[in-house]
Amino acid sequence: EKKALELLKGKESVTLDGRRVELAGNIGTPNDIEGLIKNDAEGVGLYRTEFLYMDSDKLPEEDTQFEAYKAVLEGMSGKPIVIRTLDIGGDKKLDYLPLDEEMNPFLGYRAIRLCLDRTDIFKTQLRALYRASVYGKLRIMFPMISSLEELLQAKEIVKEVQAELDAEGIAYAKDVEIGMMIEVPSAAVISDVLAKHVDFFSIGTNDLIQYTTAVDRMNQKISYLYNQFNPAVLRLIKMVIDNAHKEGKWVGMCGEAAGDQMMIPILLGFGLDEFSMSPISILPARKLITSVNEADMKKFADEVLAMGTAEEIKAHVANTFCK
Ligand code: PEP
Ligand code: MG
Repeated sequence: EKKALELLKGKESVTLDGRRVELAGNIGTPNDIEGLIKNDAEGVGLYRTEFLYMDSDKLPEEDTQFEAYKAVLEGMSGKPIVIRTLDIGGDKKLDYLPLDEEMNPFLGYRAIRLCLDRTDIFKTQLRALYRASVYGKLRIMFPMISSLEELLQAKEIVKEVQAELDAEGIAYAKDVEIGMMIEVPSAAVISDVLAKHVDFFSIGTNDLIQYTTAVDRMNQKISYLYNQFNPAVLRLIKMVIDNAHKEGKWVGMCGEAAGDQMMIPILLGFGLDEFSMSPISILPARKLITSVNEADMKKFADEVLAMGTAEEIKAHVANTFCK
């Protein structure tokens, strides 16, 4: 079993009928790269930069951030790296950045909302990112976007940062892709509009499930309601992928669902382009993907979309793939 996985190293993640996808990894610090390389990741699909801020006793300086981003870009030797801008708030707090008490922190002042308010923090990060961009293939991604206005504001600030760097004669890559996470239902619903303004989407199922089903992802008492096979969640995912593809944009997924052996057949059938997961899930995912036909997965996904409950969907997956 382990040997069979070893044999998949260096191989493409391509279905029997020729559909190629990208299998990337999620990381929290530059040290995590080692695990990605060992498991033959084809890139980084999510670098959660909040750990840079959480492991520090003050806002990390531009140079500190630059070194971390450069290390990841160089460490993965030219493979694509999706770096997510600061996603603080919700359950993640910073001692040195006191925020108001909130009744519903997950619905509150967090992630891109905080960054668009504290543009000083946002700009420092973007400067570090663009300075590092010459060391590899950088993709920048904004978390928690819930409207077109937020996306356009964030892109405007990117332009300001680029103009600053230009004025200072500091080099940066001109082909950095800009994307956003889809983790709020309002973003999924207008993904046809949003797709015109990004290079890619990455679906954050961890949050998308909680916001779509009104189930707090931390609440054990109702965890039985938190389900990635929820048909409403699956329909949103399908819609987002279709809307992006209509605009010629690619779609990834970096929530836990992307590395789940029972979700992968459905996601392949939906047409997902990139799967980002914890390192240990990468080779098993490649094993599955290289053993099926995309055409069959499409048919299977259509059957799933016609079903009304998570239970039924899960059973259908289990009966088809886990014999
Ligand atoms: C997600 O919401 O799916 C996601 C990847 O972001 P995080 O888990 O960091 O909230
Ligand atoms: Mg999230």
